[in-house]
Amino acid sequence: MKGSGANTILVTGGAGYIGSHTCKILAQQGYLPVVFDNLSAGHEWAAKWGPLERGDILDRSALDRAIKTYRPSACLHFAAFAYVGESVTDPGRYYRNNVAGSLTLLEALRDNGIDQFVLSSTCATYGVPHRVPIDEAMPQAPINPYGASKLMVERMMADFYAAHALRSVPLRYFNAAGADPEAEIGEDHDPETHLVPLVLDAASGSGDAITVFGTDYDTDDGTCVRDYIHVTDLAEAHVLALKALEQGLQHRAFNLGNGQGYSVREVIASVERVTGRRVPVKAGERRPGDPARLVSDSARAAKELRWSPQIIDLDEIIGTAWAWHQRRAQEKSRG
Ligand code: UDP
Repeated sequence: MKGSGANTILVTGGAGYIGSHTCKILAQQGYLPVVFDNLSAGHEWAAKWGPLERGDILDRSALDRAIKTYRPSACLHFAAFAYVGESVTDPGRYYRNNVAGSLTLLEALRDNGIDQFVLSSTCATYGVPHRVPIDEAMPQAPINPYGASKLMVERMMADFYAAHALRSVPLRYFNAAGADPEAEIGEDHDPETHLVPLVLDAASGSGDAITVFGTDYDTDDGTCVRDYIHVTDLAEAHVLALKALEQGLQHRAFNLGNGQGYSVREVIASVERVTGRRVPVKAGERRPGDPARLVSDSARAAKELRWSPQIIDLDEIIGTAWAWHQRRAQEKSRG
């Protein structure tokens, strides 16, 4: 399965959670996703809509080889480390992989004449917002090395656009959640740190009680409020951004969220409704670096990319995650 040309897309990190969902949508829309992934966090089983090239974004010759073999027209870049807490204790790991790795990739794209690029960026680049919802004009002032590393890549993209006409789109996600509605793929991190899969583990009895990180925030129920956006809707946004670049978009950032905030306790209540099980809960300390409320204003993506999230109800989002969770548990028990 070797493609080349206008419908071939290089997808770094395409064996990971959001990357693999994007590959599925790319394939449905007639593209050939070529996954470039070192499988440090991704899974071979998740790369099933095109060829998998095992390689590291820090390895320029491996990148050149993949690009020369498949001649993609564009690159969607997901490969990155993304644990906020770990970025605080081991910043070097984040700056090396996320910043130096992305620089290596951008130079490889530039030198091989590929001029369309989409980055998996994050609302963590905004730091603690002075108001919500957050739009793209808000100042970016990250409060942890993870957010800082992504902001540095955004800056490199702006500079590569100005100097080399490498056109690009940073997509700033809020909280990705849920799984492919057909349950072919889903979230599977090791270690798992994200709220929704941990609450599902607690509900199914396969994990410990869920610890709520902070119950004294200035929110309605005292717990942190986040904007949960379905992973398939994020995936769709990447394909829309790619099409906008194909039609001449130059350099533009977009926030991606539902515009609706849910507290940690509301997420737990939703899991109880969806699973029909009681979730054991413990109140814990605040997690350093957690703003009280992060909610997206995604009007720009709606207007300019014609993006319209389809799975917006929290129970529905969690329902897709639960279906995937049960399927994975069955597969693991079968070995
Ligand atoms: N959270 C929690 N307990 C956990 C994991 C997360 O209370 O075991 C909270 C966390 O403080 C945040 C929200 O759940 O307010 C979402 O956290 P997650 O790590 O899923 O995503 P993040 O917001 O860090 O991208």
